[in-house]
Amino acid sequence: MWVYVGKRMTECPVCVWRCVHGGEESDSSQTPADLCSPSVLLLLSERGRSRMSAPLSSSSGLEVLLSTLQSAGDVESTLNIINVLDELLSAGTDRRILYMIRKGGSEALLSALVNTGRSFTPNYSVLLPLLHLLVKVGHRDRRIGVKAEDAGAVLLTLSLLRHNISNPRRAAACLWVLQVFSSSVSTANLIGENHGLDVIYRLIPPYTSKHLHTIKAAITAFAALLSTKANVSAAVSKGYVSGLLQLYEDWFMTDCQHEATVICHALLRCLHQVSHSTAGRQAVFSQGGLRLLYQSTQTCALSKGGECLLEAAVQLMRKCLPKTPLPLTSDRSVYTFALPGGSHDTPEINMAPDESSEDEEDEEDEEPDSRDDDDDLETDLNKLRLRPDPDRPKELLVQYSQLCPELSHDFQDLDLSSESGDSSSSSDEELVLPAHSSRRDRRRSRDQSSAGSHSETDGQTPDFHSHRNFLSNSPSFRSIVKETREDAPPGDGGSDQEEEGAEDSAHSTMIDRLLERHGACIPHHDPRLYLSAASKTRSIPGFSILAFPDFWGHLPPTGHEAMAPRGPHIQRLKVFQDIRRFLNTDDIINQVVFDLEDSSVPCPSDSLRFYSKFESGNLRKAVQVRRNEYDLILNADTNCSQHTQWFYFEVSNMQPVVPYRFNVINCEKTNSQFNYGMQPVLYSVRAALEGRPQWVRTGDDVCYYRNHFCSSRGRRTSTFYTLTFTVTFKHHEDVCYIAYHYPYTYSTLKAHLKQLQRCVDPSSVFFRQQVLCETLKGNSCPLVTITACPSSRSWRDLHQLRNRPCIVLTARVHPGESNASWVMKGSLEFLCSSDPVAQSLREAFIFKIIPMLNPDGVINGMSRCDLIGEDLNRQWCKPDPSLCPTIYHTKGFLYYLNSIGRTPQVFCDYHGHSRKKNVFLYGCSVKETLWQSGSAVDTVGLKEDPGYRTIPKTLDRIAPAFSFNSCNYLVEKSRSSTARVVVWREIGVLRSYTMESTYNGCDQGIHKGLQTGSRELQEMGMKFCQSLLSVTKDSRALYNKKLIHHIDLDDNVLDHKSHNCFEDDEPPCVEEIEFSADCPPLHGDDLDSDVDRNMAGAEEDEEEDFLFPNRTRQSSTCNGTASGQILS
Ligand SMILES: [Zn+2]
Repeated sequence: MWVYVGKRMTECPVCVWRCVHGGEESDSSQTPADLCSPSVLLLLSERGRSRMSAPLSSSSGLEVLLSTLQSAGDVESTLNIINVLDELLSAGTDRRILYMIRKGGSEALLSALVNTGRSFTPNYSVLLPLLHLLVKVGHRDRRIGVKAEDAGAVLLTLSLLRHNISNPRRAAACLWVLQVFSSSVSTANLIGENHGLDVIYRLIPPYTSKHLHTIKAAITAFAALLSTKANVSAAVSKGYVSGLLQLYEDWFMTDCQHEATVICHALLRCLHQVSHSTAGRQAVFSQGGLRLLYQSTQTCALSKGGECLLEAAVQLMRKCLPKTPLPLTSDRSVYTFALPGGSHDTPEINMAPDESSEDEEDEEDEEPDSRDDDDDLETDLNKLRLRPDPDRPKELLVQYSQLCPELSHDFQDLDLSSESGDSSSSSDEELVLPAHSSRRDRRRSRDQSSAGSHSETDGQTPDFHSHRNFLSNSPSFRSIVKETREDAPPGDGGSDQEEEGAEDSAHSTMIDRLLERHGACIPHHDPRLYLSAASKTRSIPGFSILAFPDFWGHLPPTGHEAMAPRGPHIQRLKVFQDIRRFLNTDDIINQVVFDLEDSSVPCPSDSLRFYSKFESGNLRKAVQVRRNEYDLILNADTNCSQHTQWFYFEVSNMQPVVPYRFNVINCEKTNSQFNYGMQPVLYSVRAALEGRPQWVRTGDDVCYYRNHFCSSRGRRTSTFYTLTFTVTFKHHEDVCYIAYHYPYTYSTLKAHLKQLQRCVDPSSVFFRQQVLCETLKGNSCPLVTITACPSSRSWRDLHQLRNRPCIVLTARVHPGESNASWVMKGSLEFLCSSDPVAQSLREAFIFKIIPMLNPDGVINGMSRCDLIGEDLNRQWCKPDPSLCPTIYHTKGFLYYLNSIGRTPQVFCDYHGHSRKKNVFLYGCSVKETLWQSGSAVDTVGLKEDPGYRTIPKTLDRIAPAFSFNSCNYLVEKSRSSTARVVVWREIGVLRSYTMESTYNGCDQGIHKGLQTGSRELQEMGMKFCQSLLSVTKDSRALYNKKLIHHIDLDDNVLDHKSHNCFEDDEPPCVEEIEFSADCPPLHGDDLDSDVDRNMAGAEEDEEEDFLFPNRTRQSSTCNGTASGQILS
């Protein structure tokens, strides 16, 4: 065999490596020149000559080398083999080393180490290169620790270290080997149990400029040992944490020139390791580590290494901040609701999912992993194609016939065109369906609901907050009112201003006057209608206060609102402030200034005042941390202890021009668009009264990061994130509202529908508002029908009307997604408008719209769920009629349409997406799902109507905010109970979609770089309707085609195409949101180069140097006279 190798070698040098490799692998990146190093050739031929008789006929060259290494007795052969191996391995990529590991390389090196190291006077000329090689191979071998234990090499190496602590080169080599061995927990513990920690710790001196290599090797070995709990607790109990901190301080402070950055960094890495355990974190904190690290960060010059140390120190401090429970008595929502028929007061529905929901982003609108997570794709063809049986008997569907009034309407008034108003657009909503639970049940449950102390608001007229509670207590609003009155013409009722006794009448007069002076300037909004709608809205706490913006109305601001630029290191600056809460408590106030559960909480005169007990309001608690800084805690969704995202609150008593920092400290999502240019929205009452009734994007220094808070008790998921932003109010004595996104309440919807009903032209628009069902809390869930009145009562026209296909649109199943309501508002207004495209759509379709699937959630300021504490968009498979009435009846209505042969042509459920930009659709396609999953199912014979792509394609052309490339049509198992999937599969709607709208803005198209406002959201609602023209099968297709053309011209976006935004998730945030990650690595710091430098080291061992000329030079050159000399 060796002859064979030798022969081939002379013919073709490439074959040498192939032979050494055993012929299995070829490394295509290597040129023959790389492989024909003379030392290899020489050795092989030499070994071949002397060992030709070895019984290795079936083994590869490498195996021969390894087996020779294990059995070799003489120094010279061992050295030669080590040389060859080192040369082979250092010339190639990691693949060579991994190959060698598979062939038993680690075991061979370990047994050579044991053989050589065991002798009474070990030969270091062999041992040192052997150790070096072992480091290089070992740290790529995941099982090296176990193998070392089996070979008995662990304690041997430790003992070699003990004998060589005065020899820096040898010590370094031993330390690296121990570091590599410590990758296994049992090995690290074995070293720890045998006093390895103490031996190594003694090798870390205070600042010195000598032997930095060995010192660094000692610290990194120490860090590696600290990867186990046992070693950390040993280190803690021996006081090494405080020692490490002192060493860090000494090195950091003395090393002004940043020459020993690697040492400081290695020390920080030890502390990072320590802080993986609770005991370690506590030790760092109690030993004054926080203060020390904080001071070091403040003096850290931003030099090359300084920045890296700074980041490592900041991460370490964040990790070691003591866990602080949220200042709550319970994580559970302040609002609870007794379930119909349930006996328990506080259902524990959501306690179990706590655990699972920790990592799971289980949202229809949050599908970050849907492209990667192919396991989630439904690949069962039966589930994809076959419709399951209906979830209820057919008899139950008849009731829904009343929801199609247009089919039975006789349009008699078409002949009396002047008086047609009342019948084609019904004057009031009608309750059509008997709700499934009896009224008595519902009333009882209403009474049981936790609002014990709250009174129902039925029949009362609510105020906006400025009345009583606020108007009488706060000088601010009064003065606004005063001012506005001072402007009034003389004699215009200014006399009742000061009459305290006549508060009620003054109040109603005040509203009237406000409206006279300022109101009624907002299209489709009438404050009085809002007032009347709100008086019928039923909430859990029994709201009696209106938020001013909802009452008064909102106009989109005139200019564009660009995404907020993010300042450099803004998160770090905020984190520093957070850390100072523990270090410098002089300016810490920590006083609760608002508590939703306790209205008696006193509010100091110089503190901001908060309030949130109004429709859609969400703020549970406000704590004044420092003079101008407040921690805000959100209320969890009713009946559970999770889903904190949405917020909406009032704030007053501010000083102008003072920056106030707000921290929402119990956010749950792991990232947020607040890290990518998004800002919260603010509404100023004063500005509104001055003629700018606007929600505007506000807030500087916005960022979102993991914080040190944990749940108030017992909850296992207790990772929270801080959303922080700074607001500088413009006006003195103002009342402002701050929200996650443009609020849109249930009362707003009711008032809006009434307004639309008043505005439509009843001779051409058939507009009917009905009640689909009542919610658990007794609010009506509206269903709106919009279509065109027939042009005459002729059979032909009525027949055309009754054969128009249906389009079903729904929204706001997730209450925190108020953007969906603004999109829906755009759709509704457009469909009711006199626009020729709208007219054409009405003539082509019957629109069935359920604009708010979850009124109770919206009213009570929830983010995700319904009163039962469950996500309603996960209930579609088998909705419970008494627990999820809106879903149950929506699905029933769709079944009904199906049963009378009127399956909707399009279904779309509007949502909001908190982690992506743009607007996009999710649809359903069997083929795309199977392709994406890589399923073996043959899709060639599978027929699928590609029509599901028509609408997204059209939207891509006509809607500037829309991104075609963000759409997908995959059916995931985890989404099998969402509206989109169930309506597609069970009702058989080919075009069944979820439309996701961003809370932030667009990264493409003409809105690129801008935050979306309510105007853009409404525009999207309009564009969605326009896109429906593309799916009409109306005989007047030509006319419609023209209309689509007309749309293009109309909007100047003829050539709009979404740019390539294939990566639709955001890139990693510029700053580290989490802090549980390991110590950030030091650039250009790796074990191999340390080892190489040690091998090249010429400091101590003169004799060895004589025998071993510079190895680095040797392996990097092909002209190997040096190695030739050694071997000859
Ligand atoms: Zn949603």
